[in-house]
Amino acid sequence: MLIFRQLLDPQSSTYTYLIGDAESHQVVLIDPVFEQVGRDTALIGELGLELLCTLDTHVHADHVTGAWLLKERLGSQIFIAKQSGAKGADRYLEHGEHVEFGKRYLEVRATPGHTAGCVTYVLDDKSRTFTGDALLIRGAGRTDFQQGNPGILYRSVHSQIFTLPASCLIYPGHDYRGLTVTSVAEERQFNPRLGGAISENDFAGYMNNLGLGHPKQMEFAVPANLNCGRPDETQLLDSEPDWAPLHYTFAGIWEIQPRWVEEHLEDVKILDVRELEEFDGPLGHIPGANHIPLGSLKERLDEISKEQPIVTICRAGGRSARASLILQQAGLSNVANLAGGILRWRAENLTVVGAAD
Ligand code: FE
Repeated sequence: MLIFRQLLDPQSSTYTYLIGDAESHQVVLIDPVFEQVGRDTALIGELGLELLCTLDTHVHADHVTGAWLLKERLGSQIFIAKQSGAKGADRYLEHGEHVEFGKRYLEVRATPGHTAGCVTYVLDDKSRTFTGDALLIRGAGRTDFQQGNPGILYRSVHSQIFTLPASCLIYPGHDYRGLTVTSVAEERQFNPRLGGAISENDFAGYMNNLGLGHPKQMEFAVPANLNCGRPDETQLLDSEPDWAPLHYTFAGIWEIQPRWVEEHLEDVKILDVRELEEFDGPLGHIPGANHIPLGSLKERLDEISKEQPIVTICRAGGRSARASLILQQAGLSNVANLAGGILRWRAENLTVVGAAD
């Protein structure tokens, strides 16, 4: 069985693809985004997967790749096309090579034209292909910088992508309208730039008159991506909270473990968001906990001191996760949700007050 997830970075409208072999749990990530490494790491962890490598389709101009950061966090290898000119990769891919994961593989096809180093990855059974910016849904990547060339792109798409089976699904590197997938048959027929009877000259005429401005992030994205996403020392910004050993979930919640909290009760503020009858009820509560029910949290934000980090808690960790997001949206940065709530706290035999037993 194939593992497959399409993930979006809303900031740059970039798609990242997680592809893997369910039997061996080995996966690869195509075009990870630097700012989404926390999300991707959480998903890989929660699904119990092993990230073998990251595969960039090209040197991006609109976002920084997560390749280097994922290597730092998970030990994955960095793969990119030899033609990309990027430094610091573990393997430089060439046309026709295979990238294996478990019993499956992706075939590398050189599809230059958007940049000189663009590649398309084709799944072993040709059921899916990942075209980066060479071919987009009813579109194509721009050809006006990074050695772009419309004639070369036209030939790449026609010889390497339109020759795949008609039913082969095409997953692009971006989509700016929220479209997610297309097929070879559809793009051959309906792509307004490259499909139907459109010739190489027609395509060049179209592409040379796009008149697009440069991507906002281009000035720092291209140099960073030429280093496989390793940030410049001067711009190395670690957004990871460091006040406690927190765990980021795919649901987007920063979690903290009960035992650490018990050992550091002096250093944090506990905010219990259960109803009053629960707070005073048989399960008890953590000594020194503040109590504001979730339903009135938004109106009572001014009661919350910003002096210490806040740990939110409820019965099982659901409502307090919501509370942690409300606090973050209100501008409090050091907030974490107690994993498993008072139920886990009690199961670990940690101290409660006011309990029935
Ligand atoms: Fe691109």
